[in-house]
Amino acid sequence: MQSAENLARIDLIGLSREELSQALSALDLPDFRAKQVWHWIYHRGAISFEEMTTLAKPLRRDLVERFSIGRAGIAQAQISDDGTRKWLLDFSDGKQAETVFIPERDRGALCISSQVGCTLSCSFCHTGTQRMVRNLTAGEIVGQMMTARDETGEWPAAQENRLLSNIVMMGMGEPLYNYDNVVKALRIITNEDGVGFSKRRITLSTAGVVPRIADVGRDLGVRLAISLHAVSDEIRDILVPLNKKYPIGELLDACRAYPGSRNSRRITFEYVMLKGINDSPADARQLVRLIKGIPAKVNLIPFNAWPGVEYECSTDETIAAFAEIINRAGYTSPVRQPRGRDIMAACGQLNSASEQTRKSRRIHQKE
Ligand code: SAH
Repeated sequence: MQSAENLARIDLIGLSREELSQALSALDLPDFRAKQVWHWIYHRGAISFEEMTTLAKPLRRDLVERFSIGRAGIAQAQISDDGTRKWLLDFSDGKQAETVFIPERDRGALCISSQVGCTLSCSFCHTGTQRMVRNLTAGEIVGQMMTARDETGEWPAAQENRLLSNIVMMGMGEPLYNYDNVVKALRIITNEDGVGFSKRRITLSTAGVVPRIADVGRDLGVRLAISLHAVSDEIRDILVPLNKKYPIGELLDACRAYPGSRNSRRITFEYVMLKGINDSPADARQLVRLIKGIPAKVNLIPFNAWPGVEYECSTDETIAAFAEIINRAGYTSPVRQPRGRDIMAACGQLNSASEQTRKSRRIHQKE
């Protein structure tokens, strides 16, 4: 948590490598000092300057006076029966967002938020019911990864067999509507002198902000996931209202043009399975026709319910039949195992206002 004193100091988390050099040059420090500080912060996970024992003590004191190494406060930490962990983070202005860690046997994905709330209002997504509050800063985006590493004890960054092996920009918000901060954050995370995350282990998911897709290819080259969810504009307009602005045809053209979309860089199409809405064999066949020619895999997501929602999840048989049609057409179509449903951490369940909602409902029921 940041103290009032800290607020006056410059927070180093979220500064690009160049900006860090500039900030330290105010103290007449040469670039190799910036390199050391960067290493301490992003490789070792230092949370204070006192820990930076390769720097002389007087220098450490100078740094403490001028700079901070921010971490958001943890308002709530939850662990699901299946090991999924969710942190509700408190930012310095009191706004909150959620981060979810999904460990598997020998790897794990951290699901990072890009905004507090979301503007897209997808009709099946809980985050969409929350008012959009603001974009997260680059520091707040990077900070989610730092907190997860702190909490899982996975510093230093080069540790082998670490569980936090992948990052998915699939938390709250639309990353491509907070483009500059997301790019800056991911560049920090992929910087080889620090955290050193490989681009191949980062997936950015978008509901389809078409003009930004080429930019992602050019600026980041991370893996791309597209929240498709429907095969006709008529249905997609309802599920993902952004479709009215950027319809399916335009979206898929942008996917076809995504640089390096070879086998190694297949695009993931996410498809939420909603009973009676988008889950028929005809829908599956149309999906195959639509993505023809795009190196892709189709991730089928069983719908995760939330309080007050009217959609239902397709049956297991329907999902299996849907997957089979896509498989037979030559695309992998794994069914995403719902994780952390019991703590409202599964896809589409994130909503930092969820506590309030539940509380107010409880009060309502008592009346
Ligand atoms: N705005 C971006 C990032 C969010 S990613 C995007 O839309 O891609 C979150 C993923 O979970 C998206 O594919 C989203 O459509 C999906 N999702 C949302 N609500 C869901 C729900 N209730 N059940 C299953 N998946 C859901």
